[in-house]
Parts: sequence; C-alpha cells; structure tokens
Amino acid sequence: MTARINKAKCAGCGACMDICPVAAVHVEVVAIVNSRKCASCGLCSEICPQFAIKVGPKKART
Ligand code: SF4
Ligand code: SF4
Repeated sequence: MTARINKAKCAGCGACMDICPVAAVHVEVVAIVNSRKCASCGLCSEICPQFAIKVGPKKART
C-alpha cells in the first residue's frame, strides 16, 4: 500500500507534506510520494483539501 496523488486534482498546497510523519511526500508543482517511505497511514489523504490522495495498492496508478 502507498499513498497515490491524483496530479490533476493536486493544488500543490503542501498540506500533505507537512502532515506526513515519515517525510514521504515532497511538493514540486504537485505532490510526489516516495512509496518506499510511505507507511500508508492515510493522514495525507485525510488532510488534502482537494481530495487528491488515495491510499491503495502500489501497482494501481491513477
Ligand atoms: S494536500 Fe492535496 S492538494 Fe495539497 S499538495 Fe498534497 S495532494 Fe496536493
Ligand atoms: S499515507 Fe501517511 S506515510 Fe504515506 S505519504 Fe501519506 S502521510 Fe505519509
């Protein structure tokens, strides 16, 4: 499992990067998740004001 960003929805606000307890997210233009670091806690998905993050299987790409 990993957090996955819907790049079309992401506004680049950085809220997910700020809340991630393992620093698995960084924001360039849109948020990018390091799936090797992601603990699948779901916090970023809950905080995202754009509903752009889902936590799910690594292989499924959005
Ligand atoms: S919280 Fe949502 S909109 Fe903000 S940078 Fe993260 S994925 Fe993008
Ligand atoms: S699911 Fe948790 S560990 Fe993974 S990127 Fe989001 S906040 Fe970080």
